[in-house]
Amino acid sequence: MIVGIETGGTKVVCAAARADAPDVPVLTGRFPTTTADETIGRIHDFIAEAGAEDAVEAIGLASFGPVDADPASARYGWITTTPKPGWADVDLLGRVVPRGTPSAFVSDVLGAAVGELRYGAGRGTSSLAYATIGTGVGVGIVVDGRPIGGDGWPEVGHLLVRRHPDDDYAGNCPFHGDCLEGLTAGPAVLGRWGADASSFPESERAGRIAVLASYIAQMAYSVILTTGSEKVVLGGGVMLSPGLLEATRAALPAIARGYGPKALSVSDPSEVLVAPGVPDSPGVIGALALAADLL
Ligand code: ZN
Repeated sequence: MIVGIETGGTKVVCAAARADAPDVPVLTGRFPTTTADETIGRIHDFIAEAGAEDAVEAIGLASFGPVDADPASARYGWITTTPKPGWADVDLLGRVVPRGTPSAFVSDVLGAAVGELRYGAGRGTSSLAYATIGTGVGVGIVVDGRPIGGDGWPEVGHLLVRRHPDDDYAGNCPFHGDCLEGLTAGPAVLGRWGADASSFPESERAGRIAVLASYIAQMAYSVILTTGSEKVVLGGGVMLSPGLLEATRAALPAIARGYGPKALSVSDPSEVLVAPGVPDSPGVIGALALAADLL
């Protein structure tokens, strides 16, 4: 048996599967992320249940962060500087994984990128980015099948973008103001317009969607240019806003103007900018895939 765990800022998803079918969980569990002690205790309970009949051979862990995911670091597997109370400087991997059990540790978005590449919208590709535009903005990247991770890097959520001419919102990133996250994450949408992205009044919808789409398309453009991603999977709560995916697709060719790798030179990027293909929690499926890789 293998176990995958996705620790999110608000909930934890656990799954157990056979090593030869990591995308088919035979046992799942989900519970809210509360204190570190309580949450880690519930993860231990899940691991014990998963291993009741067949021993747990490997564990993959994909976590909210920032995380230290550099295997050479003394703090490998730690959640580092999160503002989430009680979760800063927590040795998550060390406290979750029983001694001697092989383990893999990545950020939540990188886990989701692996899940989408292997079993979701990215099947058949070798380089892919998974972006979540939700409470924050995060992007996980796989290049030539290799998940790109380390000590808090990459941090595409804080990319700088060109301002949309109709957008005078200052942005709300505490570090940069109008970086990508400061302009497009859920709290920025609410702060700018007083409504979440799924509740725009019809008369305002097209204009607001165009503003968000221009920033998200710029992120996709930069990620494709720098990493050669064949697809950018766009997930997260803000992306559920009706019409936003389509508007982002429409914005991309206008930015790229035919220049760059194949993914940017197509006139219709509907195969390049895609919705998630793993229906629920691609991060936990990615964590299972990384656990299976260890065996
Ligand atoms: Zn920022």
